[in-house]
Amino acid sequence: MTTNWAGNITYRAQEVHRPSSVAELQAVVARSRRVRALGTRHSFNDLADSPGALVSVAGLPAAVEVDTGRVTARVPAGLRYAELTRCLDERGFALPSLGSLPHISVGGACATATHGSGVRNGCLAASVSALDLVTAEGDLLTVARGDGCFDGMVVGLGALGVVTHLTLDLVPAYEMRQQVYKGLPLDALDDHFCELMSSAYSVCLFTDWSAPRLTQIWIGERLDVPPADVAKLPWFTALPADGPCHPVDGMPAASCTGQLGVPGPWHERLPHFRPDHEPSSAGDELHSEYMIGRGDAVAALHALDAVRDRIRPVLQICEVRTIAADRLWMSPFYETDSVSVHFTWTSDTTAVLPVVRLVEERLAPFAARPHWAKIFTIEPPELGRLFPRLADFARLAGDCDPAGKFASPFLDRYLR
Ligand SMILES: Cc1cc2nc3c(=O)[nH]c(=O)nc-3n(C[C@H](O)[C@H](O)[C@H](O)COP(=O)(O)OP(=O)(O)OC[C@H]3O[C@@H](n4cnc5c(N)ncnc54)[C@H](O)[C@@H]3O)c2cc1C
Repeated sequence: MTTNWAGNITYRAQEVHRPSSVAELQAVVARSRRVRALGTRHSFNDLADSPGALVSVAGLPAAVEVDTGRVTARVPAGLRYAELTRCLDERGFALPSLGSLPHISVGGACATATHGSGVRNGCLAASVSALDLVTAEGDLLTVARGDGCFDGMVVGLGALGVVTHLTLDLVPAYEMRQQVYKGLPLDALDDHFCELMSSAYSVCLFTDWSAPRLTQIWIGERLDVPPADVAKLPWFTALPADGPCHPVDGMPAASCTGQLGVPGPWHERLPHFRPDHEPSSAGDELHSEYMIGRGDAVAALHALDAVRDRIRPVLQICEVRTIAADRLWMSPFYETDSVSVHFTWTSDTTAVLPVVRLVEERLAPFAARPHWAKIFTIEPPELGRLFPRLADFARLAGDCDPAGKFASPFLDRYLR
C-alpha cells in the first residue's frame, strides 16, 4: 500500500508502475484499463489516487535539454525541482518562481498550479510553453502554447494523460538575499498591504493567529534590483530576526534556506526549505490553501482574525503570498492577480476538518478558490462558479479520455 507524503491518504491503487523509457510508459498506459500519473506524492487529498494503477515517470531518462537560443528547457516531468534548478543554474538560467519546497516533481507541481510568491510571479505552470504527454490510447502527443486547448491542458490534474516532458520558459540566473522580520500588527496591512507585498521580488507573510499580528515576514530581494527598503518606513515596526528562522516559531531552522541577508543563488533563496532536509513539519501536518483577488486580501485576513480562537488550536502556521494572473483554465489564478492564504494544520484530520469548513465560510464572500492538491470541502456546484473554465475542462477531459482511463473518485466528484 502506498500513502501520500503526509500519510493522511492511503492510495487505493494496488500497483505503481515505474517505466524506464517513454515506449515502456506508452505500453503501460495502452494496456491499462484505469491508470493515473503519480508524482512525488506531496498532495494532501486523493487527487493523485486511481481505482486502477498508478504510474510514476520518475524512472524516465533525467536529461534536461536547454535551448539557449529560445531560452527554454525541455524537462522530464518526473524530475524534482531540486535537481532541475541546480542544472539550470549551472548553465546560467533560472525560473522566475519556486514553491516552498524543492522536493516535488515538475509534472506534479505544474499539474496542480503550485506557486511561490511575488506580485509579478505567476504559478509554476505559467512557465510551461509545451507539453509531451502519453494519451489514453498510448500515443505520444505534443501540445504547445498557441495550440487550441493548450491553456486547458497545463494544469491538467492528471486527467488528460501522463506528461513525460514539459518545456519551460527560462530567465537569466539571478542572485537573491532573504531577510526575515518578526512581529508586525495585522492593522499595519490595512493601508500598506500592497506596498509590503510589492516591496521585493518575493514576500511571504506568516501568522499563527494567536494574536492579530504577523509572526514573521520573509522578504526575498534580487541583488540586481535596487532594494525598496520597506524596513525603513515608519509603519514597518517589525524587527529583523537575530538568527535563522523556521516559519513555525520554535521549530529548528536547519531545514530552511539561507537568511540574514546572505546572498545566494535564486534556487537557494526562493523556496523556504532545503532539498537535503525533510520540509515543513516533516509530514506531521495537513495543508489547505485558498486564493482570493488581491483587492480582497485585507478584508479576508480580518475575516479570519475574527475566528482566530477557533483556528489557533489546530494550526501550525498560516502563510500569505501573492501570485500573478494567468490564462490556464484550471488555475486558481485564472485571469486574477491573487493572494493565497495557506494553512499548515496539525495532523489531526477530525479536529482540522470543522475548522477548514469555518475558514471556507469566512472566505466565501471573497470567492476563495481552493488549491487542488490540498484539503478542502467546497462542494462541486460552488467549485464550478469559482473556476469559470471548469465545465470546459470537463469537456476537454471527456474528449481526451472518453473511456475514463484517467478518471478517479476525485475527478468524478468535481468534473461531473
Ligand atoms: C510540505 C509541502 C509544501 C508545499 N508547498 C507548496 C507551495 O509552496 N505552493 C504550492 O502551491 N503548493 C505547495 N505544496 C503542494 C504541492 O506543490 C502539490 O501537492 C504538488 O502537486 C506536488 O507535486 P507532486 O509531484 O508531489 O504531485 P502528486 O501529489 O504526486 O500528484 C498531484 C497531481 O499531479 C498529477 N501528476 C503528477 N505527475 C504527473 C504527470 N507526469 N503527468 C500528468 N499528471 C501528473 C497527478 O495525477 C495528480 O493529479 C506543498 C506540499 C507539501 C507537502
